[in-house]
Amino acid sequence: MPLNEIAASLYAWDLHDEGVDHALDVLASRAEVNSAYLVGLMHKEKRPLHARFYPHNPVRRYYTPEDSRAYWLPDASRYGRISPLTSDRDFLKGKDWLRTLIDGARARSMRTGLEISHTVIDASYAREHYEDVLQRDVFGNIVGAFEAVEAQRALPCLNNPDVREYLLALFTDVASNYDVDYVQTCLVMFGSGRDDGGTHAYGPVAWQQLLAVATGGCFCSSCAAKARSEGLDWDEIVREVRHLANLSKRIGLEELHERQLLDEANYGESALLIENEAFAAWLHFRKRSITELFAAVQQALRGVGRDVEFRYNTYMASPERAGLDFKAAFQFVDSVRESDYSDQLGTPEGVATKRAKLMKVRRSLREDQKLIAALGVRPNATPETLRGSVKAAVDAGADGLSLGHYDGATMERLDAVREGLREWEAQERDWQPLSAG
Ligand SMILES: [Zn+2]
Repeated sequence: MPLNEIAASLYAWDLHDEGVDHALDVLASRAEVNSAYLVGLMHKEKRPLHARFYPHNPVRRYYTPEDSRAYWLPDASRYGRISPLTSDRDFLKGKDWLRTLIDGARARSMRTGLEISHTVIDASYAREHYEDVLQRDVFGNIVGAFEAVEAQRALPCLNNPDVREYLLALFTDVASNYDVDYVQTCLVMFGSGRDDGGTHAYGPVAWQQLLAVATGGCFCSSCAAKARSEGLDWDEIVREVRHLANLSKRIGLEELHERQLLDEANYGESALLIENEAFAAWLHFRKRSITELFAAVQQALRGVGRDVEFRYNTYMASPERAGLDFKAAFQFVDSVRESDYSDQLGTPEGVATKRAKLMKVRRSLREDQKLIAALGVRPNATPETLRGSVKAAVDAGADGLSLGHYDGATMERLDAVREGLREWEAQERDWQPLSAG
């Protein structure tokens, strides 16, 4: 299939600093971008992410965004108890950056979209105003994303009714009030725990990583009520998962001793799952919860009366540890952006990792669902790995590419996308008869 869609992401501050026309002209002319989306609900993450400084921003060297702010003008009437926060920064606040991007993109006949990124709720604000909606681990601690507990991050529980209402409102607000072709999300799901590996460690082995899921979320009251309504023995789940979490964190002398035996045993993931039935039931409960959320988002988008694509953007190597089962949840999406950036390793092995991830997603999709392959167009990638990534997308039956991210891209990397498309004959224009004469 041809790689028809070449997407690229932009941030509100990119549009402010470089101007929407300049950024889109660079992307279209160098990398054949024909689809632009705003990272419209962006988490707290220093930009650019990998390089210390921006390669081509004329205004600032780097930027540290506020946590989980919306960069469109949210329609307050759509939201219930939780509504999105917008920017307090002088150069961003009060402006409709999604409208700005859409106007620039439509003037170039591009597709347009918006991304609801990893987190949708400012952690400090949520800890102060709606602590009850946050994910809890089996010990009752608030579960965060990505960073240490001390960083005080926080994830909302996707089984909490107020959170569910908020999420659906985000999607329908954007889909109803803006001329977007797709709404994409890489929402962080259930906290998947952490592990420091066992006594043999050069990094944790597979069963230790699975064991660490017992230290993740969620054990809030909404999850307990939902699980009980599905007939699960929640008390037994809590008892068993707490024991596994103690093993994972080495809490208690008996648990430390047992963990040391396991680390030195020929133990594996299948044994862990077969032995611990309540833990396995809890993993399936999380999977059902996530699959239901995907179904609800798709239904809400269908309900707005416009044809707006629901695009899921992957973010984990092992998404099932966060509750996401591709085969089940992807029944309810229109397209998937596989957001692997292994091309940034700068090696053929990195490209092979990307190819494998693309194959995994493609296998989970129907023929009518689109696969969009992310490319890391940042300095750690090389023109060679990027052209190889275009080949990986062709090999895996992809329908498009999606560049991450313009702010950190170099012109040479953007040019490599255009060259890779030609080299691997990725589009219909490459499959034509030779012209006469
Ligand atoms: Zn919960």
